[in-house]
Formats: sequence, C-alpha cells, structure tokens
Amino acid sequence: MTNNISLGDVVEMKKPHACGSKTWTITRLGVDIKLKCAGCDHEIMMDRLEVNKKMKKKVDKPNV
Ligand SMILES: [Zn+2]
Repeated sequence: MTNNISLGDVVEMKKPHACGSKTWTITRLGVDIKLKCAGCDHEIMMDRLEVNKKMKKKVDKPNV
C-alpha cells in the first residue's frame, strides 16, 4: 500500500514519543521521511515502509 502523506502533513503514531505526544509533522519527504514531534520538536528520520508501519492515521490539519 502506498501512503499518501505529503509535506506538512500531521500524522498520528501508534506509540507515543518519550514526551507523550503521538503526533508528528512531516518536514521532509524523499527516500527517507523526516518527522518532527509535535510535543518536543525532536526530529527523526525513517523510511516510508517504517512510517507506514508505525503510523496510525493522518491527522486532519486544523483550519486556521
Ligand atoms: Zn516528542
């Protein structure tokens, strides 16, 4: 299954980060995907396969 995440999207992970937040923002999209934690601004890189495995769902961006 191909995911349809794009730059700037917010995704919810199955497991919470160490800071307690489950949501991450996509900050780079390439062979690897870079995600920034919404709780502590920590950034991690993982490949698409891993993102697909670990993400629970895409979070709708709030309308500002
Ligand atoms: Zn965090």
